[in-house]
Amino acid sequence: MSTPGSFADTVKQQADIVRIVGDYVKLKKSGAQNFTGLCPFHNEKTPSFSVHATRQFYHCFGCGVSGDVFSFVQKVENITFPEAVRAVAQKMGIPVPRQEFSGPGEAQEAKLRTALLDLHQRACAFFEAQLRIPEAAVAREYLAGRGLTQETIATFRIGYAPDSGFPLRDHLKGSFDEELLKASGLFSWKEANDQRPTANGQRPATNGQRPTALYSKFRNRILFPIANEAGKVIAFTGRALSTGDKAGPKYLNSPETAIYSKSRVLYNLDRAREAIRKLDYAILVEGQMDCIAVFAAGFHNVIASSGTAFTEAQVRLLARFSKKIVVNFDPDAAGAAAADRSLALLVGEDFEIKVLTLDAGLDPDLFLRKRGREAYADALKGSQKYFDYLIDRARASFPARTPEGKVKAVNFLLPHIHRVPSRIARDELAKEVAQRLGIESALLMQDLRHAASTRSSTVQPPAEPPVTDAERILIRALAAGGQLDVEPGGNPASEPDEQLDFQRQARYALTTERLHLGLSAESLLEALLAGEEDSADPMALPLSDSDRRLLASTLLRDDPALTAELLEEALEALRRRHLERQRAQLRNQIAEAERKNDAQALARLIQEKVKLDRALALS
Ligand SMILES: [Zn+2]
Repeated sequence: MSTPGSFADTVKQQADIVRIVGDYVKLKKSGAQNFTGLCPFHNEKTPSFSVHATRQFYHCFGCGVSGDVFSFVQKVENITFPEAVRAVAQKMGIPVPRQEFSGPGEAQEAKLRTALLDLHQRACAFFEAQLRIPEAAVAREYLAGRGLTQETIATFRIGYAPDSGFPLRDHLKGSFDEELLKASGLFSWKEANDQRPTANGQRPATNGQRPTALYSKFRNRILFPIANEAGKVIAFTGRALSTGDKAGPKYLNSPETAIYSKSRVLYNLDRAREAIRKLDYAILVEGQMDCIAVFAAGFHNVIASSGTAFTEAQVRLLARFSKKIVVNFDPDAAGAAAADRSLALLVGEDFEIKVLTLDAGLDPDLFLRKRGREAYADALKGSQKYFDYLIDRARASFPARTPEGKVKAVNFLLPHIHRVPSRIARDELAKEVAQRLGIESALLMQDLRHAASTRSSTVQPPAEPPVTDAERILIRALAAGGQLDVEPGGNPASEPDEQLDFQRQARYALTTERLHLGLSAESLLEALLAGEEDSADPMALPLSDSDRRLLASTLLRDDPALTAELLEEALEALRRRHLERQRAQLRNQIAEAERKNDAQALARLIQEKVKLDRALALS
C-alpha cells in the first residue's frame, strides 16, 4: 500500500514491527529474526503467528493472515489504512503531516472519528473541571465517602455533569457543529418542528430550519470516562447523584457511536494492559468503583466487565495480554446469569480461571476499605481454581454422602466440564471430580468419564443397592416401640419390655456411632430416630414415599423374631461397613493430599488409615 517516497513508506522504513505487534500480542523470540505468539485474529492455544523483525512482515500459519505493520494495525484496531499509518507514526514518534485518504468515504469516516475523539477529550476535561465548582459538593462528598483520593480522581479522570443540560453544549458548540454534537451520543434534543415523517412518508412542511434544542444526557451525575485501549476517551458512564423519578437510572451509559462499541471495550484496559502482560494475569471485577478501588490499592492489572456478560470480542481482546484471569465477584450473587455466561465464554476460550471470593460477601471496594491492601493481596493468593470452586459448590448443594447426592453433584458439574475445549482436559477433570466427590462406584466413575469426554448430557443414578438384612433388623428394632413384634404364628415374640430394650439399644448405637450414614436405608433410619421413642405408629411418621414403602415392606416380611443376638450381629455388620466406608474416604483424601503436595496432611491421613486397617482386621 505504501508507495516509495510517500509518508507511509517513510513510516514503514522506521517502524519496528516487533515493537508495534508486541503492543498487542505477547511475542517470544524463536529465531535470530523471528518472533512468535498467539494469533490475535483467530483462536488458538499454540502459537502459529510469526513476525519477522527485519523483513517487517507477519504471517499466521493457522488462519493464513499476513501483511505488513500497517495491515496489522488496521486489522487489529479495525481502522482505515491512513489511520493505521498515523497510529504507527505516533507510536514511533514520527511527526504526522496532513492526512492522506484513499477515498472520500473513508476520509469522511476517519474525520468523524477523529472529531468525536477530540470532542470526547474536550467533554472529559469539561466534566473534570466541573467537579471543582461549588455545585459539585455532593459529588465530591460522595467520592470522598468512597475513599477516593485526589490522585485517584485525577488518574481516572472522574468528573461531574452539572444539573443543567446546557453548559456542556455551550462549552462545545463553538468548536463542533450540531451534527457532530448529535453524533457524539452525549446529547438529547427535541426537534424545533416535529420532523417525524407522516403516515404517507412525507415530512410535514417546515417553516424554515429552526435550531434544535440540544441538552446533555448526563445531568447531576458523577462521570467516569471509558477509554479505548489506547487511552482515548470514547464514552462515559454517569452515576446518578439524586434519586427519584426525575433522576433516571442509577447508571447511565453513552450509546453506541462511531467510536464506541460497548461489546468491544473493557473498562480500564488502557491503564491495566502493561501490568496484565507483565504479571500474566488479569483481575476481573464487576463494577467501575471496584475497579478503581483495586487499582488505587496498587493492583494495576484490574479490569471491569461493567455488570454485563463478556462478549467474544472482549475475551479475544483480553487474550492478547494474558489468558489467565482471577474473577473477583461472586458468581452466585446478583447478576449471576451474566457472570455465568462470562465464565462459560472464558472456559470455552481456554482461559485459566480462578475465583476470588471475599469473606462476608464483601465486594472488592468495601473489602479494601475495611481490611486493607495486605488482606486483599492474601485473598488474591488464596484464590481458588474455578473447577475446585465448582466442586465445592456441588458438594455444598448436594451432600455427596449418598449415591443419589453424588449423581446430582455430577450432573451439576457436567455442563461446566463440557465447556472445556480439550478432551484430555475434560477427562482429567472427570477424574478429579470423582476423587473429590468420593465416588467409589466404578460404574458411576465410568459413566462420568464417558459423559465428560463425549460431552453427553447426564449420568443416570446407579441402581440403588439393596437394603441389607442388617438394615432391616435396625428398621424393625426402631419401629418396635409400642407395637408388639409378632411371630408368624400370631404369638408375641417376646415381652414388650424386651422389645423396648431392643429399640433403645438400636437408637443408642445409631445416635452415638452414626452407623447408618451412607446406607440405602439412611433416610428411613434417620426419620425413625427423629420420631418419638416408644412411638405407637411408625407408619404415621412423616416419610418420603420410598421410605414408607421400605418401612412397610420390612414390617410386612415374615422374618424370624428379633432377638438380642440378631440385633448385635446386625450392629456388628454395620460397624464393619462403616469402617470400610471410612477407609474408602481416607483413600480419596490421601489422593487429594498427594495432588496438593500437602505432606503434613498426608502423614496424618496415612496414620489414620493404619489405625483403620488395624480396626478392620480385628473386627
Ligand atoms: Zn491466525
